[in-house]
Amino acid sequence: MKTLKRIALVAHDNRKKDLLEWVTFNKMKLRKHLITCTGTTGKLVEDELNRNVNGHPLDVHRLLSGPLGGDQQLGALIAEGKIDIVIFFWDPMAAQPHDVDVKALLRLTVLYNVVTAMNRTTADFVITSPIFHEEYDIKVKDYSEYLNRKI
Ligand code: PGA
Repeated sequence: MKTLKRIALVAHDNRKKDLLEWVTFNKMKLRKHLITCTGTTGKLVEDELNRNVNGHPLDVHRLLSGPLGGDQQLGALIAEGKIDIVIFFWDPMAAQPHDVDVKALLRLTVLYNVVTAMNRTTADFVITSPIFHEEYDIKVKDYSEYLNRKI
């Protein structure tokens, strides 16, 4: 992981307000990194990151909306090693039409040992960590035995 972090921000509808509050609070830190979001979250996050800020407007990389494939796109980026940190405020109180996609995405964050925060407290700990601004050597389990298994 380089000092420039590739951060994914996603929130289910009932958690978008919470995520936006967190983005507002951490705006100046987040603006120094590369932000990817699912579609609807991305529109809100991009507006917020550019609100009351001078200088270049910051572009958020917007995927499809989560239920329309955005979570799967994010999962693919993780599998390709293109995301360092996932902040995903999912809704524990409402069933989601794309629940299987959410589960698949979270499985990949564990598989690839990606920093993952699913609530405000953990997100606060992540962004205030002394190693947030440093390079970090991510240890991914060696899957070569699995890949070379006898079939
Ligand atoms: P959205 O998707 O940002 O397009 O609302 C979020 C999600 O449900 O994954």
